[in-house]
Amino acid sequence: MIIQLQPGIAPKQKESIQQKVNSLGYKTTNVITQEGEYLIGIGKSDIDIRELGGLDGVSDIHRVSDGYKLVSRKWKVRPTSINLGDGVKICEGDFAIMSGPCSIESEEQIVSVLQHLKDNGVQIMRGGVYKPRSSPYAFRGLGVEGLKIWYQHAQEFGIKIITEVMQSSQIEDLCKYADILQVGARNSQNFNLLDALGEVDKPVMLKRGISGSLDELLQCAEYVFSGGNEKLLLCERGIRSYETAYRNTFDLNAIPILKEKTHLPVIADPSHGIGLRAYVEPMALAAVMAGADGVIYESHAVPEKAFSDGQQTLNFAESDELIRKIRATVALRKSF
Ligand code: PEP
Ligand code: MN
Repeated sequence: MIIQLQPGIAPKQKESIQQKVNSLGYKTTNVITQEGEYLIGIGKSDIDIRELGGLDGVSDIHRVSDGYKLVSRKWKVRPTSINLGDGVKICEGDFAIMSGPCSIESEEQIVSVLQHLKDNGVQIMRGGVYKPRSSPYAFRGLGVEGLKIWYQHAQEFGIKIITEVMQSSQIEDLCKYADILQVGARNSQNFNLLDALGEVDKPVMLKRGISGSLDELLQCAEYVFSGGNEKLLLCERGIRSYETAYRNTFDLNAIPILKEKTHLPVIADPSHGIGLRAYVEPMALAAVMAGADGVIYESHAVPEKAFSDGQQTLNFAESDELIRKIRATVALRKSF
């Protein structure tokens, strides 16, 4: 159960609501976010929620019995809009394209990608400065020094930054220079990291775990939301299956199902989803038709020379083509 409290509710009023809910056999958790204040009630008894709806200080009340509540569409029907400032938004009806290299490698590379995105009117650049690599000997990123250089140039180009956060100690620095913090598949259920991200006032994009269910992804989002941060995006990036013909099994099904279950924007990552450059485009377009609110994919001037994930990275000519086709597909979808 979610009880939405009136803005600026007096502590005494809140206490008496809490006592009433507890007396009905429900445990309560108080959640305060950038947007509002809630009491989450967890319990088994069957109550008539009208008993609570009329209490002073309650603005609304919703019965949500899933493991995730605040991220559910069951209480918030209106889609969440993520506002990055300067007119850049990600939400249903405002399709977002995010593109850039797997790893940030050099100043020259940063500028080449920014120019490519600017030429195509793309407003958000992706890139990792902290890279989770399967092998400890692989390139692990330029760290915050790379991010500072990226930030300077991104400012000049008027382009926003999305980059991965791997541990809580990186959050403070990343928040200074990034516009969206990405939680990678390998950290999807790092609950300490999710708790820490609940405390920041910065959008967070949560990627689905390598073998994570949608329910688990939604509960991970619930961690961040209930920690105080409502600015969340979810990302389908493929899951591990028995198939070996491609890197991951891009779960297109996840897109409409997530759209039904949550009010958060749903982003598709066909680069990690299939892991093969030749098929990033069809999977990106399929994700648009499946109802995604945005696409994130890897691009690089010379993918063959990329420090990581070159095999799934588009060169600029391929990326130009994909952007054009994504826009045409979004327009087609809107026309239905
Ligand atoms: C990435 O986006 O660079 C990345 C490492 O993705 P994932 O966490 O989905 O593997
Ligand atoms: Mn990558």
